[in-house]
Amino acid sequence: MELDPKVCDRARLARDSRFDGRFFIAVLSTGIYCRAICPSPTARRENVRYYRSAAEAVEAGYRPCLRCRPETAPGTPAWNGTSTTVKRALRLIAEGALQEERVTDLSDRLGVSARHLDRLFRIHLGASPAAVARAGRLHFAKQLISDTDLPMFRVALASGFRSVRRFNDSIRGLYGRTPSQLRRMQPVALRGRPDEYVFHLPYRPPYDWESLLAFLANRAIPGVEEVVSGAYRRSFALLGRHGILEVRHEKSVQALEARIRFSEPVSLLPIVTRLRAMFDLAADPSVIARRFRRDLLLGRLVKKHPGVRVPGAWDGFELAVRAILGQQVTVAAASTLAGQLAKKLGERLSVSDPGGLTVVFPTPQVLARVRPGKSPSYSRHRRMDGAVHRHARAAPTGCLSRKRFGLAPIGRPGPPAHGRGVEEAGRTMAAVARVRSPFAVAGLGRPGARVARAKENRCKKVMDYCDVSTPVGRLLLAGDEEGLRRISFQNGFHPVQPAPDWRRTEEPFAEVLAQLDDYFAGTLRRFELPLAAQGTRFQREVWSALTTIPYGDTVSYRELARRVGRPLASRAVGAANGRNPIPIVIPCHRVIGADGSLTGFGGGLEIKRRLLALECRSGLRPAEPLELT
Ligand SMILES: [Zn+2]
Repeated sequence: MELDPKVCDRARLARDSRFDGRFFIAVLSTGIYCRAICPSPTARRENVRYYRSAAEAVEAGYRPCLRCRPETAPGTPAWNGTSTTVKRALRLIAEGALQEERVTDLSDRLGVSARHLDRLFRIHLGASPAAVARAGRLHFAKQLISDTDLPMFRVALASGFRSVRRFNDSIRGLYGRTPSQLRRMQPVALRGRPDEYVFHLPYRPPYDWESLLAFLANRAIPGVEEVVSGAYRRSFALLGRHGILEVRHEKSVQALEARIRFSEPVSLLPIVTRLRAMFDLAADPSVIARRFRRDLLLGRLVKKHPGVRVPGAWDGFELAVRAILGQQVTVAAASTLAGQLAKKLGERLSVSDPGGLTVVFPTPQVLARVRPGKSPSYSRHRRMDGAVHRHARAAPTGCLSRKRFGLAPIGRPGPPAHGRGVEEAGRTMAAVARVRSPFAVAGLGRPGARVARAKENRCKKVMDYCDVSTPVGRLLLAGDEEGLRRISFQNGFHPVQPAPDWRRTEEPFAEVLAQLDDYFAGTLRRFELPLAAQGTRFQREVWSALTTIPYGDTVSYRELARRVGRPLASRAVGAANGRNPIPIVIPCHRVIGADGSLTGFGGGLEIKRRLLALECRSGLRPAEPLELT
């Protein structure tokens, strides 16, 4: 992902808040880096350098500006859509990964090699995972120094430093001042009660706070959540302690103000991270508006509700319980049921609250102990009680599926590899997985049906494409914001020609190119890319089955037919295999004749032979364990 200096120049001179956090401005003459909105006098163009992330600017040796405070910039969504791995890694880092564990542990959890993760980070953020984590820790420490009265040793702990000395050294290294000097320079502006922390969480304007608050108000669980005088309030439990948080809109500073009452400052970073996700603070409304502007259905809605955000949830488990209870009743009735359940089984709130918060939502452990049928029903439906119970038992293992809920199938099947999780999960699990769909917005209705209709209405897509030369010849890659749509062997039988209105650009394909590169180097065994293969339902089933054939392995057409549940249809399966629009990534080359012959391949048999030889050769080397998709 490269920055366009012309766009950055314009944004910098206009102090355009839409670009806040999307890039950082470093000034050579002062050695300081700033947000796009910094009120300091603008530097001369030749003295300015642009960076994709704060971590990259830090790596290049710049210090954060004390005036615009880069640590308070909204999160960067620049990598959204191109790298799910980076996105997941950033989430885990924000939740505290890399505080205790090493980069290799993180990359193991993500199913990629540490080298590959490092490379993806450099492509998208310009800095290594460790540098990004370090910059995040320092930024949060700076926020605690400037915005709270917390004693310095607690600031050190809360921002993930193991020793006060290392904390002091790091702060001095980055800011050129000791923590106490920094605090004296910026007297605490936001102050709550003695046991309360106040944070400003900035967003990119516009922000449709009213619709978000209305959404939360409609669904507030009595005793656990409430919306009063323009603020969202809730109780919560973390590490066995209770707390209260309150979020309101501070339009004048383009931020949400969060007041957190919690006795353990070590949890402040995870709490703030959750709030950022819950209130969708990394969203970039200008990108969302641009993407949907021309859409027949959504375009109108996007214009009518500028700055609309996707409401998230404080806790996935709680949200899923709510969704189960709400299966056959109104939103209001579901809130009442959830409130009764919390009152009956949740712990009494140990922090005194002047408002209406009295309990914390019960944990999975508590709900798992309640046998359905043996205790008073909390949903008035035995099946729902059973589903809540099963959910509570499955929640700690992370092993959730719609089948376990015992609920009826919901929605229609999605595209094969990409949307599989969503498709299996239906509405309930989509919520748990915190799927951030711009369609599931308050007031815009149910996701599935409307998206389907909007898709039908949309005219033929304009695609991005690029060319790449590989050990198996020239490939044409084509796709759009939904994912990769085509890979075509340009020396094969039926090379795809770009339509006149397609845009030639490499930028959206950065990750595809990186993964292809690793694949041909023999170090990548499983592609992880958003795919948008278009085909009939049957074809998509076949392609989906193809992605489960392990690297270095082959199956026959008959075996593949058996795997899609059509044992007699090997011919039809073969035809669907031949129409695979994304070869290599969807590995149709791993299907061979029953007698071991190579049979056909769109790119020609020679390429198929080379792909199999590559996988076979690399497969002999003890690399990372094989993982099935
Ligand atoms: Zn500045």
